[in-house]
Amino acid sequence: MIYPIKNFEHTPIGYTYGQKTTYSEHHLGTDFGVPMWTEVLAPTDGKIVQVVTGQQGGLTIHFRDKWDKLWRFMHLVKSTGQAPVKEGTVIAWSGNTGTTTTGPHLHVDISRGELQIYDWTTFYDPILYIKERISMDLKPYSIYYSKLDKEYYYIKGDKTVLFIPHDRIALAVALQVGTTVEESLKNKVVGNF
Ligand SMILES: [Zn+2]
Repeated sequence: MIYPIKNFEHTPIGYTYGQKTTYSEHHLGTDFGVPMWTEVLAPTDGKIVQVVTGQQGGLTIHFRDKWDKLWRFMHLVKSTGQAPVKEGTVIAWSGNTGTTTTGPHLHVDISRGELQIYDWTTFYDPILYIKERISMDLKPYSIYYSKLDKEYYYIKGDKTVLFIPHDRIALAVALQVGTTVEESLKNKVVGNF
């Protein structure tokens, strides 16, 4: 997992996730104030499943990441088209297309599974989503759990990611940070999920 734009952490932010905008009650994603023709990178291995031109969003690509979540990048000037892609590949260039933009920026939103644009709670906060998953990748030998998703906790070991339903989370919090999933399995800390 990588940031979808270079200099991500120092990029000015416009509307954030859930914020009221001039055109909707809840913004579905986060707007990054990048100049025209900024490269947009595939954040994980995945697939560009759709390229569309909408009235409001302008040129938009739909990207499905390795966790099967759907990303939309909007207001683009150019896309490389529908295709499977490797992490880090340039998949588009940012712009200022569509009617809901007042200056060059990149709109990023990430939704759980299928796109339901009339239900903002089916979307993630992109900044949290990205930072959580980047830190998962940075700590490959630690057990790491996150409660980002509504339905599951993610627990990453050195080779394994476990998905634990919320109703079983009592077991998940018994995990020892710093041990591997394999060690925890041996010690029966993890199991019977
Ligand atoms: Zn936006």
